[in-house]
Amino acid sequence: MIKRELYEKVYDILEKVTPLQSDCGALCGKACCHSPDEDAGMYLFPGEEAMYSEVPPWLKIELSDFTYGNNKSVLIAICTDRCQRELRPLACRIFPLTPYMAHNGVMSIKIDPRAVPMCPLAKQFASDTLDENFVDAVVRAFRLLSKEKEIQSFVLGISRLIDEQERLLNLFISNHRGKKQRGAIRRKK
Ligand code: SF4
Ligand code: SF4
Repeated sequence: MIKRELYEKVYDILEKVTPLQSDCGALCGKACCHSPDEDAGMYLFPGEEAMYSEVPPWLKIELSDFTYGNNKSVLIAICTDRCQRELRPLACRIFPLTPYMAHNGVMSIKIDPRAVPMCPLAKQFASDTLDENFVDAVVRAFRLLSKEKEIQSFVLGISRLIDEQERLLNLFISNHRGKKQRGAIRRKK
């Protein structure tokens, strides 16, 4: 079992950093905190529930449909009100970045394609648009976390979800380009 102290360390690394030096919430009306879907939430990383031995009143923790490894369940945290910033889950602290494990087992940090529909920073698909202190802190946090086998297995699981999301996004982009080109050809005739 991953110890609470590890998450305390990681929360601490990510406590003061934000995706931009300015308030990125001003770009989008804090879209990542205002999902229209009441059941939308953030997956907790394995053992992260230890940080919520007392669940704050603004948070619900439930079993999600997602499993990883040998059918291990994943908890989802759903905020029902504005959170206490110092208690926000790891997934919120690193958004719109995510750890990713390639098919060769190498882990990296990248923009999460699941963030693209809501986050203007993710739409640019380049982590160099983000504040470098933020990116460095996320890298440091996952250098610590990725020593744990359970985290490696979880990241492997979410990486295949990310692959699927990327496949759908690329399909959408090429369909959209195809429609634009067909429109241009019709106008030329
Ligand atoms: S959706 Fe992206 S730009 Fe908007 S507040 Fe969240 S991280 Fe910042
Ligand atoms: S827990 Fe806080 S940071 Fe995370 S989505 Fe909810 S309000 Fe936003």
